[in-house]
Amino acid sequence: MALRLFVATTSQGKLRDFRTAAAAHSISIEPLPNLEGIPAPDENGATFADNATLKAVYYSRLAPGELVLADDSGLEVDALAGAPGVRSARFAADTGLVDSPDANDNTDVWNNMLLLQKLASVPAAQRTARYRCVLVAARNGQPLHSAEGAVEGLILDSPSGTGGFGYDPLFFLPELDLTMAEIDLETKLSLSHRGRAFAALLPFLSDSSEANS
Ligand code: IMP
Repeated sequence: MALRLFVATTSQGKLRDFRTAAAAHSISIEPLPNLEGIPAPDENGATFADNATLKAVYYSRLAPGELVLADDSGLEVDALAGAPGVRSARFAADTGLVDSPDANDNTDVWNNMLLLQKLASVPAAQRTARYRCVLVAARNGQPLHSAEGAVEGLILDSPSGTGGFGYDPLFFLPELDLTMAEIDLETKLSLSHRGRAFAALLPFLSDSSEANS
């Protein structure tokens, strides 16, 4: 029987990533019903794991009996001591100069501009960075399993590419000679933090699927 997994995200980019990663494994990915109308929990954890866990616990209580997946992810830039890290989505908003999400949904543009500004004097070789993702599956408020993935890259000094979302146009993959915004979704998932975390979660998901059938 196909496993149905409710994902606690309103991000179309993340949903698309999860659907593509799950397609080959008889796992159907659904957004958690009515998520837009549910007040979001405060993502005040110090780590991606803390935030993914608190989201999985919170949202799984709202879908009794269902397996609910929550993720937390972001960009760690070495020259910025790991920032923006858990504040990746709110990097520019944290400066107080813009809202998050801003009225015209320019959050990604502001975040990328701030990143470029902060790295303006950092030479190319020192612009090392990684995307990190932690996934937590929970049921009825109980975290059941977690998995992580990461991908290493460099932050360019100007954006390139129109695919992806977030920091993708600035995130350069040296082994492909392309940014994350210049590769197709399958390629992205084969090497991205989210694709790797999802692959690491698959043994748990297939056990859950067998237990379900
Ligand atoms: P979250 O929704 O709290 O996990 O925040 C994730 C933030 O990190 C996003 O809003 C993006 O700014 C950034 N991010 C995470 N994953 C990706 C990705 O795959 N591409 C680009 N940006 C990402």
